[in-house]
Amino acid sequence: MSAAKSGHPGSPDHGFETLAIHAGQEPDPLTGAVVPPIYQVSTYKQDGVGGLRGGYEYSRSANPTRTALEECVAALEAGTRGLAFASGLAAEDCLLRTVCAPGDHVVIPNDAYGGTFRLFAKVLDRWGLAWTPAPSGDADAVRAAIRPGQTKVIWCETPSNPLLGVADIAQLADIAMESGALLVVDNTFASPYLQQPLTLGADVVVHSTTKYMGGHSDVVGGALVAADAELGDRLAYHQNAMGAVAGPFDAWLTLRGIRTLGVRMDRHCANAERIVELLRSHSSVAEVLYPGLPGHPGHDVAVKQMKAFGGMVSFRVTGGEQRAVDVCNNAKLFTLGESLGGVESLIEHPGRMTHASAAGSPLEVPADLVRLSVGIESAEDLVADLEQALR
Ligand SMILES: *Cc1c(COP(=O)(O)O)cnc(C)c1O
Repeated sequence: MSAAKSGHPGSPDHGFETLAIHAGQEPDPLTGAVVPPIYQVSTYKQDGVGGLRGGYEYSRSANPTRTALEECVAALEAGTRGLAFASGLAAEDCLLRTVCAPGDHVVIPNDAYGGTFRLFAKVLDRWGLAWTPAPSGDADAVRAAIRPGQTKVIWCETPSNPLLGVADIAQLADIAMESGALLVVDNTFASPYLQQPLTLGADVVVHSTTKYMGGHSDVVGGALVAADAELGDRLAYHQNAMGAVAGPFDAWLTLRGIRTLGVRMDRHCANAERIVELLRSHSSVAEVLYPGLPGHPGHDVAVKQMKAFGGMVSFRVTGGEQRAVDVCNNAKLFTLGESLGGVESLIEHPGRMTHASAAGSPLEVPADLVRLSVGIESAEDLVADLEQALR
């Protein structure tokens, strides 16, 4: 399970789907098992004091199942180092407390994921980290939010949750470089199959692997991938020192999901397009938010930096908040629930569910908004369910 050598099926000169199945996942050296085993173990026998076998001493520091996941995620994001955590938020917390200190400042998206916003506003704020929300799609606004010498991170989510805003990653990378800040991209919505921020100049990618990477709504996890090896080492040091690591079974489940990421994303995108087609022509829908629509303000940037436009679709209904809540309650095949990125379709009301913690803040979302995570069921069934829910 060591780093892939050139020419091996997990080496960087292979295609995405090959890496998803082979990077970090050489057959087990003992038995030839083609799937990396779940090393459900906390400690490892040493061959004499300090005589570690393969570098493993204690599973907070490193565990072979987690190593397999970390190497695979690093390969898929074209980074030098991947690290797996107990959740997306644990990954974010580790990153921020590694690269920032009390007194520093970060620029955050004005439509960040609610939990990310809460981490800044309620946890790291008290720790002394200042933050300014700015629309990531507006380069001038991001530039204006920077405090020279104090801003250590520009945080970006693209497409964003739940408004599907698009930010130009390469442009933000230039701004970050000029100001001596790191560009962090939360790539949860796109997944590395649709977009690779490190190849566009970002410094660190963040994932909630709970979503598309795991893909089956059966595990919570997070990941960081660094472009730079030295930063990767610092993050790994803090991952161990802070301790919010992914457990072996969670790492195994996430890796199982990742092997089919490419085929799942193709279907998520195709089904989302069918749903968008329905919504665009529906009299109960006031606005459809999807980067694949030519009228979307970030469409041209999305075309430039994404392979396709993803499985997340948001829309605003005519008739206000109650109507939006009714649509969520009326859906049958679309399951009413938080989270996203699994094989099953989900529907939710961000204002009262995932983004309730942003109420009254600059990140508050419209009350008539409905968010869909379009799954990989038969498209006709999904369209029919949404039609009846809108009736
Ligand atoms: C879910 C999510 C997170 C947080 O991840 P957890 O695994 O729930 O901790 C961060 N960013 C985005 C975009 C998310 O959707």
